[in-house]
Amino acid sequence: MRILNGRGASQGVAVGDIYYMIKHDLSVEDTVITDIEKELDRFTHAKLEAITQLDKLYQHALVADYNTAQVFEVHKMLVDDPDFCDGCIEMINDHKNAEFAVFTVRNMIADMFLAMDDPYMSARSADIMDISNRILKILKGIKETDLSLTGKLIVVAEDLLPSETVKLDKNNVVGFVTKFGSNTSHSAILARTMGIPAVVNLREAFEDIPLDGKIAIDGDTGKIVIDPTSTILANYNDMIARQNSVKEGLKEYIGKKAITKDGHGVKVGANIGSLSDIDEVLNNDADCVGLFRSEFIYLESDKFPTEDEQFEIYKEVVQRLSPLNVIIRTLDLGADKQASYFGIPDEENPALGYRAIRICLNEPKIFETQLRALLRASHYGNMSIMFPMVSHLSQLQDAKRLLEYIKTQLKEEGVPFKEDLELGVMIETPASVMIADKLAKEVSFFSIGTNDLTQYTLAVDRMNTNVEKLFDSRNEAVLKMIELTAISARENGIWCGICGESAGDLELTDFYMSIGIDELSVSPSKILNLKKTIINCTTKTK
Ligand code: PEP
Ligand code: MG
Repeated sequence: MRILNGRGASQGVAVGDIYYMIKHDLSVEDTVITDIEKELDRFTHAKLEAITQLDKLYQHALVADYNTAQVFEVHKMLVDDPDFCDGCIEMINDHKNAEFAVFTVRNMIADMFLAMDDPYMSARSADIMDISNRILKILKGIKETDLSLTGKLIVVAEDLLPSETVKLDKNNVVGFVTKFGSNTSHSAILARTMGIPAVVNLREAFEDIPLDGKIAIDGDTGKIVIDPTSTILANYNDMIARQNSVKEGLKEYIGKKAITKDGHGVKVGANIGSLSDIDEVLNNDADCVGLFRSEFIYLESDKFPTEDEQFEIYKEVVQRLSPLNVIIRTLDLGADKQASYFGIPDEENPALGYRAIRICLNEPKIFETQLRALLRASHYGNMSIMFPMVSHLSQLQDAKRLLEYIKTQLKEEGVPFKEDLELGVMIETPASVMIADKLAKEVSFFSIGTNDLTQYTLAVDRMNTNVEKLFDSRNEAVLKMIELTAISARENGIWCGICGESAGDLELTDFYMSIGIDELSVSPSKILNLKKTIINCTTKTK
């Protein structure tokens, strides 16, 4: 047994098998080959090896779960799919290297499936991606390590990019451990959204974690225990049982409205990043979705998602959550949210650089695609849209102008959308606080992003663990920013919510009530505890 210490980034304890995640580079080069027979042989071998791996996965999964096992059976059939194989062979015969052929045919077929109306067929796109990536890994000589993908897993990785975190199978993963990463990184936020514990920033101690075996983690204290003894395991299992019973106890708040003792009603919303979070929104009885981080759709993809792909996702989220309001934030790419296909060059100060609305306004094609998808989906439920990282009034006005232009387009095309869709702006920069009165005249609501507002107010990089202690959302200057925003919202007759992590800081609930905050949006797992705190709170309006 060995004990290591990191930093707790998402509360709770968990015990599971180590799932050591190694980063794989699946980018490919377009190379002209001369020996076609040799390349065809490489492709055939890679396919055979993929089938062998899938056979093993099938046998392994069968022990735990018949349905998961069936997925591998389907994948085995797809490896021999004539469209896929013929497409690759044709490209190789055309002197393309096998990797490039698999990559190109993968994208073509995956797009074709995605465009299909039938949801079953459209979901086959992910299967094509999966088997093609398996073949790509084999071609690139990357070893398969996924054999234990069932059971309770604790993901151990040097760092988890949001794009990797969102791809994890939420049914199996019970915790994260990382060598790097801060408390306010998006991977930590995602762990909290999933309601699972996370320990980050183990630094040198990380090297002592073995590649496999059992591990127990405590997301409150940051302690991790490798190969725990039976006594320690029993302790952890007791803690897990207590944790579950607290969760059970909070269920009494399901169906209750968040109203303070003196009658101030607040909406308690959920922050989500993908369709797989919808169940948790409903299970925890959220009043709305206060923040859908739409960029996670982009991070889950290997290419810019098309208008139709996005439309299907937005439509499903608003339809399944109807009549609840879903506030979708437009693309907030950049800084720590990167994927290779974005092509954003490295920057000295990414947090101050090319991100969010700045990218969207500079690359209107990307923005237009998203806005069209959003407007089309708005017809199917109760959706609002908000814009992130606004620091200049003109940015908000330009974004609104583009939205109006797309509305006109859709009208001409006879495509329905929600005409009275509410628009909001995120208050994440000190500049936006200072011009809040002007911004308020353009929108129906403010949503304060306290993660970035803290970062920019205190000049503390939220990703930099060296200054982590200075990152304090309770700091007087940050609270003043929040209060000024709330005042400006009230004076201009619009509502004001908070969707940054500190919306769930129960030490601040009293303060938020006292300044008349109308909505608090938090990770789904925090909703019921927050409702309980609000219900027991007395507003002392300032
Ligand atoms: C915030 O900055 O508080 C916020 C909600 O946005 P994100 O954390 O995604 O940057
Ligand atoms: Mg932000």
